[in-house]
Amino acid sequence: MLLEDMEPIVQRFYDGVAEGKLLVRRCAECGAIEFPPHLGCNACGYHQTEWVELSGHGTLESFVVPGIQNDKPYLKAIAPYGYGKVRLDEGAEYSFVVFCGKKKVVKGLQERLYKDQEKIGVHFKPIRREVPLKQSSDELVEWWQPCFELDEVEA
Ligand SMILES: [Zn+2]
Repeated sequence: MLLEDMEPIVQRFYDGVAEGKLLVRRCAECGAIEFPPHLGCNACGYHQTEWVELSGHGTLESFVVPGIQNDKPYLKAIAPYGYGKVRLDEGAEYSFVVFCGKKKVVKGLQERLYKDQEKIGVHFKPIRREVPLKQSSDELVEWWQPCFELDEVEA
């Protein structure tokens, strides 16, 4: 998808990411959180949802170290990272890039998650990127990607 083709609901979500906010839709009927944001509720089928900002905090449910095929040079420059499923404190879950701070943390993370059943906290951490505005254009525009970081990196 190109930035110029973004649907308004997707645009609003990414505008929030650029402001450091994790915006989702909450059902006006049952209160379920829709992430990624949908206009309708997948839990009860109600047709109205509203924007709410989440805490940006969650726990790591799974973690994989990037292989050759899915290693991203632009992420490598920032920190050691992996791909993880994050369960947001408000209930929804989704997969994100997860920054780990140190290489030795990455190596031990799966054992801590799966063997030790440790509860590992993460927080929202958008990163700034420059991406092409149009398919056949050299013009780059700023875009913020929603990522997460281990709480222990900041501790
Ligand atoms: Zn609902």
